[in-house]
Amino acid sequence: MDLSRCTSPPAASSGGGNRVVARTMICRTCGGALRSRVTDLPFKVADTSIVILKGLPVLQCSQCQETELDHPLMVEVERILASFDQTTELEIIRYAA
Ligand SMILES: [Zn+2]
Repeated sequence: MDLSRCTSPPAASSGGGNRVVARTMICRTCGGALRSRVTDLPFKVADTSIVILKGLPVLQCSQCQETELDHPLMVEVERILASFDQTTELEIIRYAA
């Protein structure tokens, strides 16, 4: 008995391949160009407690110096801050490895 197996390759997934979406990084405040840089940022987590995160890879506007966080970084920062003991007045955490 001939069990001829169908070995045709799986249909190529629809679409034209993986296209990386080039996102233009523009300042939400003034429309200036954002440049990536590493800096330290303070975050107020409670009335009397502040966390300073060192070595955060942020985006900074070349015109108004406003800093913005990438969404994945924002999520990460929120997770760090959520686990922070809010009875501590000041904590300095090194973000970057
Ligand atoms: Zn700006």
